[in-house]
Amino acid sequence: LVATPIGNLDDITYRAVKVLGSVDLIAAEDTRKTKILLDHYAISKPMVSYFNYNERQRTPQLIEKLRQGQSIALVSDAGTPGISDPAYHIVHSALASSIPIIPIPGPSAFISALVVSGLPTDRFVFEGFLPVKKGRKTKLGILSTEPRTIILYESPHRILKTLGEIQSVFGDRNVVVARELTKKFEEIVRGPISSILPQLSAKPTRGEYVLVVEGYIPS
Ligand code: SAM
Repeated sequence: LVATPIGNLDDITYRAVKVLGSVDLIAAEDTRKTKILLDHYAISKPMVSYFNYNERQRTPQLIEKLRQGQSIALVSDAGTPGISDPAYHIVHSALASSIPIIPIPGPSAFISALVVSGLPTDRFVFEGFLPVKKGRKTKLGILSTEPRTIILYESPHRILKTLGEIQSVFGDRNVVVARELTKKFEEIVRGPISSILPQLSAKPTRGEYVLVVEGYIPS
């Protein structure tokens, strides 16, 4: 499982580059995106796709190759495979077949956002994407009394709506909105939702967002 950059192509480990250059096959969430990374490091390797909608069907094919002794690197579009990205099925199946899984650590957007947030990092919960419809209100209700720092992934289309909903369920909590981390338009805004919302609403919301929310502090 090879972690890849979350934007800046320099954010990859020496080991990840070596592994990508030495495996028999690369299973990639989006082969076109991974090709950009491979080209940057002058790596040329056979690739197959491994994404949300084909992972169940693809897993047995990859397991068979691993059984035959081939080595496969699994990468996602960005960051660490398995973190809001496909990997679980193949990890589960490989372990069931006693095939070793080796982590090649690297970036993950939520860790980068958390450590610069200024909110407590000693205890936190990573919730990934909130449910879009069913279960969304219930989840927000549960999280409203969560004392640990809460980390969410969000799309540019929903970030304002989500902040508004958090404000109405949690009250005016301190939040950190980390946008386009490691990229040209990286931006990190911190403060109570009441001050963040007008700032973000003043211009179009674009790019990728991590939302870090202060945990519940009983009064
Ligand atoms: N596997 C990835 C990881 O380890 O972070 C996450 C993949 S998930 C499908 C994509 C989401 O991660 C985006 O919608 C955004 O919430 C977050 N994300 C990824 N890259 C980011 C970046 N450079 N800046 C801010 N958020 C990012």
